[in-house]
Amino acid sequence: MFKSFFTILAAFALQLTFAPFASFADNHKASAKIKVLLIDGQNNHDWKRCSPVMMETLKATGRFTIEVATVSKAEVAGFNPDFKKYDVVLSNYNGASWTKDTEKSFVQYIKGGGNLVVVHAADNSFPKWKEFNEMIGLGGWGGRNEKDGPYVYWKDGKIVRDDSKGRGGSHGRPWEYKVIVRKKDHPITRGLPTEFLQVKEELYDRMRGPAKNMEVLATAFAKGGSERHEPVLMTITYGKGRIFHTVMGHSHTSMGGVAFQETLIRGTEWAATGKVTFPPITAAELPVERAVYRDVKDIKPLK
Ligand code: ZN
Repeated sequence: MFKSFFTILAAFALQLTFAPFASFADNHKASAKIKVLLIDGQNNHDWKRCSPVMMETLKATGRFTIEVATVSKAEVAGFNPDFKKYDVVLSNYNGASWTKDTEKSFVQYIKGGGNLVVVHAADNSFPKWKEFNEMIGLGGWGGRNEKDGPYVYWKDGKIVRDDSKGRGGSHGRPWEYKVIVRKKDHPITRGLPTEFLQVKEELYDRMRGPAKNMEVLATAFAKGGSERHEPVLMTITYGKGRIFHTVMGHSHTSMGGVAFQETLIRGTEWAATGKVTFPPITAAELPVERAVYRDVKDIKPLK
């Protein structure tokens, strides 16, 4: 009697001791940190103030660890990181061409299943690097025109590829633009309201590029610009690599928009893993009636 009571007590104690540990271990396993390499150091935008917002946004979720490679023009010749150490590369870089060796190792990394997130002016970079332009789908400026690929936009319920001549890359005046989800069943967009407002910033339009293996997840109407529904969120596959491309994120201020933050978080996780484990964002959190800013301190960690 005593023995069996003791056994039950011991088992109960054991459960008390180990249950929390087991559940911690499960959670930890489910949310192993994603290793991000953020590349910056040259940009026609204020990368010194933008990169910290992106890092803090991702870190606040508890899902990511981030290392930064800041590459000045003088440092490009010696820049050749071991990309394979990272689950995903986050580019905030719009600057001088990398060396041929670095380009080659980056192409090998992405082809072999490495992943990439391209934010705003990072898609202005490397206009002459063929493989990079295939990775990003669309780009702007840097002499891009019809030789680089079609314009891509949404018209009459579908994506149009337009080969007409003209410059690649433009934007109207900054404003609060409405993002409309066009592909609702993608892991990135599945948890987003179907329409929401980004805070005031310029909206890229008339981008051009190879646009191969590319899906446009969301568009925004470029009022005062191209007057077309322009791609805002895109995914591209290149070899085994996944690429998430967002044209949002002009400044550290507009990176304070919930629209930018949530799409960056979801897009980076998707690029790194092919899945999104973050809970859905409600229309109250990301409304279409007004543009909402959020302090990174108010980002809830992933449970
Ligand atoms: Zn900009």
